[in-house]
Amino acid sequence: MINSAFPNPAQAMAGKGVIIVDPKRMDKIIKVDKNNMYMVIEPYVNFAACQAEAMKVGCTFPSPPAGAQVSALANIQWHGAYGNSWLSALGANQLLSFEVVLPNGKILRSGSISQAGSDDWIWNDGPGPDLRGFFRGAQFGHAGGMGMVTKISTRLFPWPGPVVFPTQGNAVDKESFFPMDKVRWYMIDFPAAIKAYPDKEEEQLRWSCDLHYEIARAELAIVVQHNAKQFMWTWAARSKEEFHKGVNEDFFPHGYNIVALSALTSVEQLEYEEKVLKHIVAKMGGTFLSEKSPDPKDRERYKVWMRITNDWIRTAHSMRLSRPSDCFHQGTACLDSIDTVAEEILRANRVQRKMVAEGKGKNLLPYSFHGGWISPLEKGYGALMTTDLWPEQEPEKAAEAIQFLLSSLVGMLGEKCAGATVCLLGPAYDLLGPQFFNVHLLVKAMKREFDPNNISNPPYATTPDVVDPIQLAEMTKVL
Ligand SMILES: Cc1cc2nc3c(=O)[nH]c(=O)nc-3n(C[C@H](O)[C@H](O)[C@H](O)COP(=O)(O)OP(=O)(O)OC[C@H]3O[C@@H](n4cnc5c(N)ncnc54)[C@H](O)[C@@H]3O)c2cc1C
Repeated sequence: MINSAFPNPAQAMAGKGVIIVDPKRMDKIIKVDKNNMYMVIEPYVNFAACQAEAMKVGCTFPSPPAGAQVSALANIQWHGAYGNSWLSALGANQLLSFEVVLPNGKILRSGSISQAGSDDWIWNDGPGPDLRGFFRGAQFGHAGGMGMVTKISTRLFPWPGPVVFPTQGNAVDKESFFPMDKVRWYMIDFPAAIKAYPDKEEEQLRWSCDLHYEIARAELAIVVQHNAKQFMWTWAARSKEEFHKGVNEDFFPHGYNIVALSALTSVEQLEYEEKVLKHIVAKMGGTFLSEKSPDPKDRERYKVWMRITNDWIRTAHSMRLSRPSDCFHQGTACLDSIDTVAEEILRANRVQRKMVAEGKGKNLLPYSFHGGWISPLEKGYGALMTTDLWPEQEPEKAAEAIQFLLSSLVGMLGEKCAGATVCLLGPAYDLLGPQFFNVHLLVKAMKREFDPNNISNPPYATTPDVVDPIQLAEMTKVL
């Protein structure tokens, strides 16, 4: 089994002895190429280290809300949704060349490094083989099921400075602010007529989509997203006590759109972007929260959010997401256009709130149904969304979260929403493949070819043989 904090219950059922490969000593950043803007890394390098080195040469590196402490290689080659996906898109889009030890012991290289005698990690496709598809699912990739990745090269993005990520304070009180001539954050509120939440949830999400498209059209910003109400406060509250107090007081009454602009070329460019952003927001009837907002509560909301908003560029507070019940579960996820993921949030919230009204999900925190996170990718070419659930920790109570996730998935399948494929992982391929052009058969063929004995992280990405219905039902009962 390749080092994993993401176990699949079916691994335990494989009933085989397990060898865990721990890549602790493979912890080198092998190359930082600032001119061609890429970096070559080994498995045990985390996002914080990549970003620290990138910033020294005027570049930045994305960071997943999972936290900047996770393995950058693991995350990029199998998943990769980032706080600043506006720049980078998903890990798949950021992955360049890579090297992998296949389960049969052979070494496979993809991209420019695969050229004979090449020491060049710069490119993923042409001339030469591009095998990124071999590793990727829709959102989730092979998860170690196709071998052990030993090196990847990955894209860097322009960064105006500072050279060191600024932080002050310790532990829960840690705050971070960028110099205003480098990076500026904006917290954008909805027009007065659509502020009521959840009554105006649909209008708010559609307004957010329009805002994202306008920002994309103007080619602005390094971070753009709609942060769900529950995302805002789970990240911003510094303790459980503060969290529950804020929930009772409805500290963030709804979600907000969050934007960061940066002085990539000059302060004049930053000033220009700010002017355009203000024009767009004013035209759409929105407002900016600030230290000078007329409502003192808005001033407080702005202050509280600003002390942690740099998390979207380097995540330091990820575990806060689990704080409400010491447990955290994704409610639903979808990858598609900005408009379509917003539709999916609305649909999933409708279904899930109906389930609550029917008396289901009693052990989920009520804060769970305030979706969702709209994270547009690569300047608006696509988007990822999630909604979140907080179950209690006992297995049977946590299982309720899984039921809610499944209900949402069933809905997506009913509508043949391509977003459902984000859930294709492990045995789910067998379940969902027939709905999606029999993709499971292709994955099985690859697994059979490269891992005929099913030894690498079984049953990821899938089991090589078509499993019988009883075995499949057993493997997927957690779904
Ligand atoms: C609170 C929370 C929020 C999260 N939010 C996000 C988010 O917004 N965006 C996001 O992308 N992720 C998110 N995640 C999930 C996240 O992707 C994973 O938790 C993270 O990548 C795990 O990193 P890790 O270093 O523990 O990797 P691991 O769990 O060790 O690895 C991840 C997978 O890759 C495989 N793997 C690891 N190393 C290799 C290798 N060298 N070769 C082949 N396969 C390998 C593992 O077997 C495993 O299946 C979140 C998780 C949590 C807990």
